Amino acid sequence: MNQMSGRKHNEVASYAAQYSKSFVERWDDLIDWDKRKAGENGFFEGVLKRHGVRSVIDVSTGSGFHAVQLKQAGFDVVATDGSSTMLTKARANFRQRGLDIQSHYRDWLSLDPQELGQFDAVVCLGSSLCHVFEAKARCEVLEKFRALLKPGGLLIVDQRNFFAIRAGNFKSSGNYYYCGKHASVTLGQVDQHLCEFIYSFDNEEQYRLKVYPLLPGELTTEVLASGFSDHRSYGDFQPDYDMMQCDFVIHTAVASARKPA
Ligand code: SAH
Repeated sequence: MNQMSGRKHNEVASYAAQYSKSFVERWDDLIDWDKRKAGENGFFEGVLKRHGVRSVIDVSTGSGFHAVQLKQAGFDVVATDGSSTMLTKARANFRQRGLDIQSHYRDWLSLDPQELGQFDAVVCLGSSLCHVFEAKARCEVLEKFRALLKPGGLLIVDQRNFFAIRAGNFKSSGNYYYCGKHASVTLGQVDQHLCEFIYSFDNEEQYRLKVYPLLPGELTTEVLASGFSDHRSYGDFQPDYDMMQCDFVIHTAVASARKPA
């Protein structure tokens, strides 16, 4: 971190500030839980079950969508997030559904297996890792995720398809992830350093998220450099996909056995 310029450091540290209380209040309108669930069609549950997973930690739970889906599908779930507004929303969503899901307010760098235990899977979904702008810092985060996994445990990370976005082919089909009818997602600044998403709601509220436009190939390299192997990817939940045509790319990888101390 101390090698970063002040500007980049602020961008990394400011993810929590971007999820203001009023934006988070609209988050579930943006998602539309029922449509998002239908669009996923059990994809994550299927991948986890095929890997023999029982316990999962959702490290960017946001308003808790995946924690809820996975708990309802029978997994043991722990949910964490580094935004207090998001975590408060997640807890309200858990309560509303009568679900007992352990949750913690934690930045990724403070995730500690001594405290939280180790899991069969770590999920980091909804294009969250792109909040970290520097490759070295992303690798530190990925190593934290690996430390939360039992050997052979599964990591699932997804990203918006920044390959297509950077090539000028932004699609937000509304079929996946952000399915709500009362919001639209457009782009502000896009270059190789920054991608700005503009979320506009029916009531004229507008929010912006600034993230790093993390390419699928870049993330693959970083995952493999951070103690994972057996990397696979999916475009909009399909193993065979056209890199110019999908909204999201999902990466899975397996935690390698730990290096001897
Ligand atoms: N998974 C949810 C939320 C996605 S939004 C969904 O799909 O709906 C991205 C989330 O990542 C936000 O809740 C944000 O607070 C969290 N996040 C980003 N950087 C983080 C960090 N360094 N530590 C912990 N959480 C972080």
